[in-house]
Amino acid sequence: AKKAGKNCWRFYQPSLLEEAYKNMMLTNGLRRGLERGEFSLYYQPQFTVDGDRIVGFEALLRWNSSEYGFVSPASFIPLAEQSGLILPIGQWVFEEACRFARRLGDMGKENVGVAVNISPRQLNSEDFVTHLRRSIEVTGIKPQQIKIEITESVLIESMEDNVFKLCQLRDIGVLLALDDFGTGYSSLTYLRSLPVGILKIDKSFIDKIVEDEIQRQVVGSIIDLGHTLGLTIVAEGVETKEQLKILKKLGCNHIQGYVFSKPLAEEAAAVLVVNSILS
Ligand code: C2E
Ligand code: CA
Ligand code: CA
Ligand code: CA
Repeated sequence: AKKAGKNCWRFYQPSLLEEAYKNMMLTNGLRRGLERGEFSLYYQPQFTVDGDRIVGFEALLRWNSSEYGFVSPASFIPLAEQSGLILPIGQWVFEEACRFARRLGDMGKENVGVAVNISPRQLNSEDFVTHLRRSIEVTGIKPQQIKIEITESVLIESMEDNVFKLCQLRDIGVLLALDDFGTGYSSLTYLRSLPVGILKIDKSFIDKIVEDEIQRQVVGSIIDLGHTLGLTIVAEGVETKEQLKILKKLGCNHIQGYVFSKPLAEEAAAVLVVNSILS
């Protein structure tokens, strides 16, 4: 950039007002999008570390807006949270994911689970557990077919209430995964007090394991301690064969990432399951 002065130029920076206006427009778009059925779920497969078996899918929300085109979840999820729209949207996501789990079950693939992301606002809502149970009942799936992914931020506010709700879900058989592990205040010891069975190591950790010896050891320690606590370890955002090789050596259980597959539309995900004889 140029030196500051009379003729200096700056990168264009939207003003706060413009930003607020844009967010308001997008939030209205979300509301209409829900009514118009503009949302869909993509499913990213998770494999054993050898890549020979599909163990499950993560459901990832997609919004194809009639006004804005494809909008990334990184932009609209925060707005959905702020506006509270994440409650009806999240409910739709959960029902849709249950329908997909039902489809897998009907294909004889009950053991292929479907993981759903749950935001803090959803977990905080009073009828969260009731809604989830109802969706499971209505679709006739086994609770074991569903995993929910939460981040640590979920537990910062109203820790006790939320842990209680998570225990209720665990008790009916829903599996719980701690998402984006390593990015927050995570300490492995406090994990013992959570009803969590799966640990997902964040992509930002995986990114550096090839070049960075220390990072590799950190990931190795997370995996070992996780195993000591009886957890299944999933590495997310695995992109290369080299990363895969290291994770295998370190004893990681499951792999999710472009190295095996990007998130897929439902049809493609179902076809993948049909074609993977071993799963
Ligand atoms: P996340 O839960 O950490 O999901 C993983 C993200 O990493 C996804 O991005 C996925 O497409 C991407 N990813 C997976 N493998 C790779 C890889 O090898 N390389 C790269 N570069 N990326 C990879 P996506 O779908 O854009 O979602 C972003 C975030 O939005 C998610 O992060 C999650 O926090 C949130 N999100 C998505 N769907 C939902 C939803 O239904 N409900 C809620 N509350 N949040 C959601
Ligand atoms: Ca996730
Ligand atoms: Ca994640
Ligand atoms: Ca992540």
